[in-house]
Amino acid sequence: MPTYIVLLGPPGVGKGTQAGILSKKLNLPHISSGDLFRENIKNNTELGLIAQNYMNKGELVPDDVTIKMIRVRFIQPDCAQGAILDGFPRTPHQAENLSGLLKEFGGQVDLVPFFNAPAEILVDRLAGRWTCKAHGHIFHNIYNPPKVTGICDYDQSPLYQRDDDKPETVKKRIVVYNEQTAPLIEYYRQRGVLVEVDGTESIDKVAEHISLILVKK
Ligand code: AMP
Repeated sequence: MPTYIVLLGPPGVGKGTQAGILSKKLNLPHISSGDLFRENIKNNTELGLIAQNYMNKGELVPDDVTIKMIRVRFIQPDCAQGAILDGFPRTPHQAENLSGLLKEFGGQVDLVPFFNAPAEILVDRLAGRWTCKAHGHIFHNIYNPPKVTGICDYDQSPLYQRDDDKPETVKKRIVVYNEQTAPLIEYYRQRGVLVEVDGTESIDKVAEHISLILVKK
């Protein structure tokens, strides 16, 4: 049976970092909808052009565009054993579509770690976040610094600060999260797959907590 894990929580709470750790540990692909959009923007695709307008404003890309992109990613053979989903779904409509898509693969959403942290922490984390140009590896100048300033530890590509990590855009992204994504907490709780994780803890502590949850599953 494939294993599908959805990481849920506000922007900056550490989903991307934990998705990377889980992906290595479980040997499953890390699918980040934000990374897929950024790749399209980098390659100047039509999808990238559409997405950029929304991303720059801190708004969600429309569901139909997002779902189509995820579908294309899911039909790649590496998703057959499962996947770690980071940033998708972000609306109840996306969640319903995901459930239909996974049924086609004989799977379902097995586990939804929900990370939470107060808004001040999120703004602080995103202000110090540095992302690698080549593969989206994530660092933080205080909590997770790279070995060499400005260079990715894993692929030596340059690190950059995302435009949408600016405090004004971050505040908008948190509002959008509260309005459009937070209903998924109840959605997955009702389906018995939600587990709460304290997103204010250190990277290692959070990873340890998720490992314990996986052992109990
Ligand atoms: P992230 O890298 O997950 O923080 O996403 C960055 C931006 O990409 C978001 O602020 C949205 O504009 C867009 N985005 C990423 N995932 C989704 C999604 N599932 N639905 C709609 N928009 C998304």
